[in-house]
Amino acid sequence: MYDVVIVGAGLSGAVMAERFANQLNKTVLVLEKRTHIAGNCFDYVDAATGILVHQYGPHLFHTDNASVFQYLSRFTEWVDYRHKVVANLTLVGQEVLVPLPFNFSSIRACFPNEHAELLIRKLRTRYGEGARVSILALRQEQDEELIKLADFVYQQVFINYTTKQWGKTPEQIDSAVTARVPIVCSEENGYFSDPYQCVPRNGYTAMVGNMLASPLIDVQLDTDFRERLNIDLMAKSIELDGQPFNGEVIYSANLDLLQLDHEALPYRSLRFEFETLVLKTFQQETTVNYPQHPSMTRITEFKHIPNSRQNADQTVIVKEFPVDYDPNDPVASVPYYPVFDEYSQTIFKQLKAQAEQVPNLTLVGRLAQYQYFDMDDAVANALTLFEKWKSL
Ligand SMILES: Cc1cc2nc3c(=O)[nH]c(=O)nc-3n(C[C@H](O)[C@H](O)[C@H](O)COP(=O)(O)OP(=O)(O)OC[C@H]3O[C@@H](n4cnc5c(N)ncnc54)[C@H](O)[C@@H]3O)c2cc1C
Repeated sequence: MYDVVIVGAGLSGAVMAERFANQLNKTVLVLEKRTHIAGNCFDYVDAATGILVHQYGPHLFHTDNASVFQYLSRFTEWVDYRHKVVANLTLVGQEVLVPLPFNFSSIRACFPNEHAELLIRKLRTRYGEGARVSILALRQEQDEELIKLADFVYQQVFINYTTKQWGKTPEQIDSAVTARVPIVCSEENGYFSDPYQCVPRNGYTAMVGNMLASPLIDVQLDTDFRERLNIDLMAKSIELDGQPFNGEVIYSANLDLLQLDHEALPYRSLRFEFETLVLKTFQQETTVNYPQHPSMTRITEFKHIPNSRQNADQTVIVKEFPVDYDPNDPVASVPYYPVFDEYSQTIFKQLKAQAEQVPNLTLVGRLAQYQYFDMDDAVANALTLFEKWKSL
């Protein structure tokens, strides 16, 4: 018998398994539906090229949380990496690559010299070097040129990309999201601004493997938790292999799997198209966004990430196409992003309230807590929940 059963071998489940085994000496069973650990952070070395590929879209670690960084550093060495993203835009018939978030270099790429320098001078004088100004704030300026700049960024970079990403019309996009789109008053190109920006030297799968390495942890892959675990929300009880289980269950899979007759939670999914090309490099930066493309959002080329094999003669790219989530469609059945609206919040709260009635059940992670977590948030959240559990 195990002390703890964990559903899901993603980052959240792995943090919990590691803490229960290594700090509390508990025996842990991890049940994972997929044939691999590491959840959506899973990466693998492509046999044909030797390039480290991220199976579920590009994952770049960045954080301002020193304790999360120190915690993960027990399981991996790091390679520094500043992620850069450019948008591919066609402006007056010409293709240009525009650094994101939109900054002084982006202004220079999009506008004739004199006009660009005028806009940069105005932004510097008004906000100061390094400031991040939302396009909403710019729109409220008296200056016509600054208002036009905000509209340009909204139209060319933001709105089509975001409507594709979420499958919504521009009118349906929450104005709070639009309000946050920044223009950065700086020459420096860099997608994130956190003090820790790096990738695990041997990849995320190796890092998660080290987290799960304790002999007290058994990981059973290719196993839907329902094959062994019966979590009965009505009876407020749990069985493992048909026997009452009074140990702790840490649950990081989709919350709505716990009650299938309940309304399902909505998600947005992604279709990935991987290509191996006989080229030294395909594009200038790791990720190129395509705001003007009708269905594709971005292309990522993995060999730009420094823990990948950079001197390979070939290259691997992945194109991303957001799609509606459909649990019965093999391509669209991965629930990548929770959809935040009133309807989903109502369903989530009902399911969460029921799950909380089961005394030995803890919900953790992006699927069970129905939140978007970056990797550092997922780790911080799991560590906090573990400490909370210990203090009860
Ligand atoms: C496209 C994309 C790009 C991202 N890029 C970044 C990035 O650049 N930087 C960053 O910090 N974060 C990024 N993230 C976020 C990152 O993926 C998450 O923070 C992280 O995966 C959260 O881990 P988790 O364990 O909570 O969830 P998951 O990784 O989803 O783990 C949940 C696990 O539960 C398993 N499971 C589900 N159902 C069952 C079942 N019935 N039985 C058993 N097991 C089950 C799943 O297979 C999965 O392994 C990105 C996310 C996406 C979708």
